[in-house]
Amino acid sequence: MLRVSRVLHPITSLGPGRRLGIWLQGCTLACKGCMSRDTWDPGAGTEVGLDHLRALWQEAVSAGADGLTVSGGEPLQQPAALTEFLASLPVEDRDVLLYTGYELDELDDAQRGVLDHVDAVITGRYVVGAPTGLIWRGSANQRLVPLTSRGEQRYGPFADVTCERAQVQVRVDDGLLWLVGVPPPGVLAKVERRLRDKGIVFEEAAWRP
Ligand code: SF4
Repeated sequence: MLRVSRVLHPITSLGPGRRLGIWLQGCTLACKGCMSRDTWDPGAGTEVGLDHLRALWQEAVSAGADGLTVSGGEPLQQPAALTEFLASLPVEDRDVLLYTGYELDELDDAQRGVLDHVDAVITGRYVVGAPTGLIWRGSANQRLVPLTSRGEQRYGPFADVTCERAQVQVRVDDGLLWLVGVPPPGVLAKVERRLRDKGIVFEEAAWRP
């Protein structure tokens, strides 16, 4: 079982191509300015069986998914189940990208074991005072590290690529509005203000303390 916040497909703003996105629930790192505070509580979200997640992957593959992005929350705070899941996944020529708030030298053996099944990792806490245009990253300290030859091939060329405008996808799922991507600091509050001016008020927002 993995404790999951949400699963969305296709996502196009967290890695190359059209991807299955799995956000794991629970994070104790508490970065200031985190836009996903709803994923912090390790008791929230839903326990999902690995068979069900594998079925969702197969559905995504049938629909043309190019890869899997695992984010959170902090995926490496569920290392045993995540290793079991990723080790059993028929990835074939697709790739696995994992986001973690940890730096590689902070990982214990179990967490390093997860990375044996990952092609590229984006590491490091979100630092609100270090905005960046680096693709797929929220702050300038975060590193994109290829871990396999496929990772090197797919992600190596993007390590220093910057985007003028951050890509953010808007998805509606289960009555909730999800913003997928890494918007620059202050953008979410601006979007909220503009929508409020048009009479659309968010009852709750995951980026507000
Ligand atoms: S940015 Fe990521 S690592 Fe940091 S608190 Fe939020 S979910 Fe956790």
